[in-house]
Amino acid sequence: MTLFEKIISREIPAEIVDEDDLCLAFRDINPQAPVHILVIPKKPIPRIAESGTEDQSLLGHLLLKASGIAASHGLDKSGYRVVINNGADGGESVPHLHIHILGGRPLQWPPG
Ligand code: 5GP
Repeated sequence: MTLFEKIISREIPAEIVDEDDLCLAFRDINPQAPVHILVIPKKPIPRIAESGTEDQSLLGHLLLKASGIAASHGLDKSGYRVVINNGADGGESVPHLHIHILGGRPLQWPPG
């Protein structure tokens, strides 16, 4: 069982900001911006590369959820970034799909 599945099952505590039947959103333990929230599906998809057409509506749901959470944290006017890290070069460290919402400060581009 991955770390994020343990957060879903409440075996590991997290600062949860949103939840529904399909997903959970919680604050990143090592925030890289004033607002840094992770949105994860309850379905244990390891990474975006391993999602399939059967996940189409779930993936759309996660993105809409990310947009709504960003707005509810006051980021919709100032702007924010939505990031999915995939695999080693992408910087993925937890093998359970997660969308990062980063905001509350100007973010540099390109990323390092
Ligand atoms: P990745 O590097 O895989 O894209 O992102 C994984 C994220 O999970 C990292 O930003 C990391 O700080 C966060 N993270 C790792 N362990 C925990 C934890 O136990 N609790 C929370 N809330 N976040 C975690």
